[in-house]
Amino acid sequence: MLAGSHVALGAAAWMALAPHLGRPPLDAEALALAVAGGLLPDIDHPKSWVGRRLRPVSDLVAGLFGHRGVTHSLLALCGCGWLLQAGALPARWAEPLVAGYLSHLLGDLLTPAGLRLLWPLRGTWSLPLCRTGSPFEPLVVALVLVAAWSTLPERPDARAALHRLGLFIAGATEPAPPPPPPRRHKVADMPRSQV
Ligand SMILES: [Zn+2]
Repeated sequence: MLAGSHVALGAAAWMALAPHLGRPPLDAEALALAVAGGLLPDIDHPKSWVGRRLRPVSDLVAGLFGHRGVTHSLLALCGCGWLLQAGALPARWAEPLVAGYLSHLLGDLLTPAGLRLLWPLRGTWSLPLCRTGSPFEPLVVALVLVAAWSTLPERPDARAALHRLGLFIAGATEPAPPPPPPRRHKVADMPRSQV
């Protein structure tokens, strides 16, 4: 999948998972970590978004293990489990990071290239729903994102937030215009009995 899709899926994974862990699903730090986790497995490809930014490391990982090798395997899942159990990172960092990482593997599983889950053994697992870069990919990602958003126990009112920022949207959040001043009757308009 493309990097943008992994970013969206990482955020969606955390939004769906956080309420079950008693964590705020829209916490900026956690979302950033989930997105980072969602991009991290492709460090095994020097031309991926994260690979280009961590070039010496991605060259090394690609040379040693190949793309969709160890970072996309059951060994990586074991590493995620270890990270959660060992306490090497605070849980508030490890949980979104792992959620994002798992979302990446699930996303790649939906492509025809699939995953070599039993790396270093050969054999590929896939549920080929969408080819990387195909028009179907953003559709699948958008559906997942909407589904995750709809599971949020309390969805922020985006219109109200924009309104607070001074960005008015035509419609419900636009302030109502003040009532017109009461009309003064001219003497000529009044009935004769009041004159
Ligand atoms: Zn990948």
